[in-house]
Amino acid sequence: MQDCFVGLGSNLGNKRKNLLKALQKIKQLKETKIIKASKIIQSMPLGGPKQPKFLNAVIKLRTELSPLSLLKKLKNIEAELGRKKTVRWGPRVIDLDILLYSDRIIETKELTVPHPRIFERDFVIKPLLEVL
Ligand code: ADP
Ligand code: MG
Repeated sequence: MQDCFVGLGSNLGNKRKNLLKALQKIKQLKETKIIKASKIIQSMPLGGPKQPKFLNAVIKLRTELSPLSLLKKLKNIEAELGRKKTVRWGPRVIDLDILLYSDRIIETKELTVPHPRIFERDFVIKPLLEVL
């Protein structure tokens, strides 16, 4: 079992409901337990087109999934919640990012861990510190 931190974000539709639905689906992943969840906070969009504010949260997981299988499961959940492919940093129903995975450093085409933008984003750092 490895400790892992996942960032959740939503700025389309019923944002709070989207976060809670994603949380439910992550809870249902067999090889994964949610250990802690931060408060939900509101943040201003960074980069991309003009778009609505976000709601964000971070959760701490304990998982037997490899980083890549976890990423695939998270992408499935994004798709199930109706996320469409849009412009980079554009509005989205749900965004699930792997922030940290144990002490692993990963730099592949599909996955960069630690997530490269953790430290420039208040809306990641603040909830992350809550669940560390
Ligand atoms: P962003 O989250 O940066 O706004 P997307 O959610 O559209 O962008 O993700 C684009 C791609 O980023 C995904 O297809 C995924 O393969 C890749 N990616 C790289 N590192 C990570 C990570 N740590 N967590 C989630 N996705 C990642
Ligand atoms: Mg993402």
